[in-house]
Amino acid sequence: MAELTPEEFLDTVLVPEKQSDHICWNCRGLKPVLKGSKFPPADIIGWCMKVHWPHYWCVADFNVVKKCYAFEAKKKG
Ligand code: SF4
Repeated sequence: MAELTPEEFLDTVLVPEKQSDHICWNCRGLKPVLKGSKFPPADIIGWCMKVHWPHYWCVADFNVVKKCYAFEAKKKG
């Protein structure tokens, strides 16, 4: 079995609530809303930890991010 990177491991245990076409899913900056979470507003997929740093930016599900200047791929290669 291939070794997982820390990000790949987290993907196996932190299951997101939503699915969408955002480029953010492949970016190290996204902190997704987790499955079953009752706290966050219903219209976000998660938070971006890079844009507007040191504040988090809510990533709305209706405003699909296709390109981003701050994108950083989770998986190298
Ligand atoms: S840096 Fe850009 S692509 Fe990455 S999570 Fe933030 S908004 Fe999405």
